[in-house]
Amino acid sequence: MTITEKQELKNIIESQMATLSKELAYLQTQLKPVDKECSLDNVYHAGRHQEQNIIFHRFQEYTKRYNKLMATLNKVEREDYGVCKECEENISIERLKLIPESEYCIDCMNELGL
Ligand SMILES: [Zn+2]
Repeated sequence: MTITEKQELKNIIESQMATLSKELAYLQTQLKPVDKECSLDNVYHAGRHQEQNIIFHRFQEYTKRYNKLMATLNKVEREDYGVCKECEENISIERLKLIPESEYCIDCMNELGL
């Protein structure tokens, strides 16, 4: 991987992290505990619970991705970054640009069923 490609990937990671942190900040404002003593009817209540579950799930997923990207940002300079864990071939730069935290090439990912 060239220095330019590494720099480009770092920029991509940083912009993906910026997008995620904006999303996370927004989701945080949407996360409100559902009041158990709430006097509203059960259908409404169930709906609110479901909605909160979806938001909470998304919040967790985004947090996970954010942490992965942060770890990846520190890995970009390393020799083994962008090398498939399975076949040890280089992961294509196009794939890394889309998913910088990729640890497997497309062939291995498909083979491993990931
Ligand atoms: Zn591979």
